[in-house]
Amino acid sequence: MSEEAQEETQVTAQPGEVSMDQIVSLCKRRGLIFPSSEVYGGLGSTWDYGPLGVELKNNVKRVWWQSVVYERDDMEGLDAAILMHPRVWEASGHVESFTDPLVDCKECKKRFRADHLMGGRCPECGGKLTEARQFNLMFRTHIGPVEDSASVVYLRPETAQGIFVNFDNVRETMRRKLPFGIAQIGKAFRNEITPGNFTFRTREFEQMEIEFFVKPGEDETWYHYWVEERLNWYHRFGIRRERLRLRPHTREELAHYARACVDIEYLFPMGWSELEGIANRTDYDLRRHSEFSKKDLTYFDEEERRRYFPYVIEPSAGADRATLAFLIDAYRRDVVAGRERIYLSLHPALAPIKVAVLPLLRNRPDVVEVARGLHKGLRRRWKTIYNDTAGIGRLYRRQDEIGTPFCITVDVQSLDDRQVTVRSRDTTAQDRIAIDQVERYLSDRTDLC
Ligand code: ATP
Repeated sequence: MSEEAQEETQVTAQPGEVSMDQIVSLCKRRGLIFPSSEVYGGLGSTWDYGPLGVELKNNVKRVWWQSVVYERDDMEGLDAAILMHPRVWEASGHVESFTDPLVDCKECKKRFRADHLMGGRCPECGGKLTEARQFNLMFRTHIGPVEDSASVVYLRPETAQGIFVNFDNVRETMRRKLPFGIAQIGKAFRNEITPGNFTFRTREFEQMEIEFFVKPGEDETWYHYWVEERLNWYHRFGIRRERLRLRPHTREELAHYARACVDIEYLFPMGWSELEGIANRTDYDLRRHSEFSKKDLTYFDEEERRRYFPYVIEPSAGADRATLAFLIDAYRRDVVAGRERIYLSLHPALAPIKVAVLPLLRNRPDVVEVARGLHKGLRRRWKTIYNDTAGIGRLYRRQDEIGTPFCITVDVQSLDDRQVTVRSRDTTAQDRIAIDQVERYLSDRTDLC
């Protein structure tokens, strides 16, 4: 048995009670997220996911894909290009109106989004502000060696348009009938005026978007269905229900083509903020792309023997914002064996490392051999680490802090009884189980549930 067999836990902080600074510092210290180009002093509001961060974010994307594509019969996946024909962004309305109102402070020269300000004065220095002017958020670049107006292309500001322009390809090749959806995960770029709050708002980020095509008239039912479905998804993977809320858009906020829109908000350290938006986009996008491309994107309804443009329900989430919310909600402090510990109570499906194999005696070749053998078997299925570089108490704490749900210790007794000790992160409870049952034990507890 390990030296912490008698670990006693006492919770000292409720989930979510954490500042953004504490999260940023944990992410840096433990290899989750680093400032981008740090050796050059960083590039404002851009971040790199480190060895553990890439695992966590991949897991977030994986469980999203699992839930919305694999666990359903009415969804197809897609991975469209970031660069698209420039006419796409004219049809979508982005060239004309994907803008934010920008104001400058006349004294300190700082820039702000007018719609984010409470009053008419600079929030930093109290100075006078300029009149608001519209600023297009799309990043422009050029295709080919000549930088003229004919070569302008945009880095996509959302993944959605890649889905709309492929609607007919997917419908036809996969022989789909309404209702069905197309899901996509990918990078999007916006030249945000005021990025910030760590990875919450950046200029380069990843979206996880669904366009769900339905028969007009059935749109409202599907809209409510998707709001519930998406809210439940965050809860299913660990976010406490009381830290999630729905904020319906007011009539003034609604895009002119949208019939309804609601934000799923999370209680971030800076306050309630959007995690995901769900919109009823009517038939606007397919109609516009038909008009601009001169391709008929209507759907032929065989039962009704007529053609129409499907309506679209769009649940649009951010992979980085979701990752940040899962991290914040999982942050816990308690007291174990008289000492404070920090741990991430991440859902096992999200945890960057699922299991750590820790030999209790690193100088005993027979113990090491068993531990290494176990590790080699487990790593074929899970992200696993082997560590014998410190005392067991310290090794446990390191794993707790990055949210590893299980630590397995191999000791001298394991040589005789072919059993190992499995310690659970949240409770610190320990189970003694047969080596040949370890895989079963872990899959029962870490696979999607
Ligand atoms: P906001 O009002 O916060 O600018 P939005 O309403 O413009 O966001 P959408 O266009 O609905 O955002 O984008 C869908 C999702 O993409 C958002 O809910 C968010 O999770 C994510 N997202 C949008 N912009 C950013 C960004 N700059 N950085 C990180 N994630 C973003």
